[in-house]
Amino acid sequence: MCLTERIAVYPGSFDPITYGHLDIIKRGLSVFDRIIVAVLNNSRKAPLFTVNERVALIKESTKELPAVSVDSFDGLLMDYVRKKKVHVVLRGLRAISDVEYELQIASINKHLDPEIETCFMISSNRYSFLSSSMVKEVAKYGGSVHLLVPDAVERALEKKFM
Ligand code: ADP
Repeated sequence: MCLTERIAVYPGSFDPITYGHLDIIKRGLSVFDRIIVAVLNNSRKAPLFTVNERVALIKESTKELPAVSVDSFDGLLMDYVRKKKVHVVLRGLRAISDVEYELQIASINKHLDPEIETCFMISSNRYSFLSSSMVKEVAKYGGSVHLLVPDAVERALEKKFM
């Protein structure tokens, strides 16, 4: 019997979390015992929500999932994953357009730490064209994001674009 807990880090910008992310988290829990959702404090992108806001929205959206914890990090993902003593990174794959970018990240991460594996989960069909940027664009112009993001995120978007 194997008593080791299977833990994955699910990193990303989550600006903000969508039902697509949540779908990966929930389905990931059928493979992993615990998932750490790790919000990247990315200096390359100009986010709509601060890291603290993004963390709070993910916590609220996953509060019924005790096996999920939420954290933030900056710097190299591999340094963060090693610090957490985790060996698997979970990423979602949507359309074919994700593949090249994801392969680049996975390869550089493999180069930085060959002992850490990247595990890809294919998006559910209904979320395969859903992205945080799409959601922000729709919300910005007053469109409904009700079926795309959890309620707390919908409210937070309304406030941002009020
Ligand atoms: P990043 O800036 O790191 O790409 P994102 O928040 O956009 O951060 O995405 C985090 C992860 O979630 C990525 O692996 C991305 O492919 C995945 N993801 C985003 N949206 C969806 C979706 N609708 N379905 C499945 N996976 C998704």
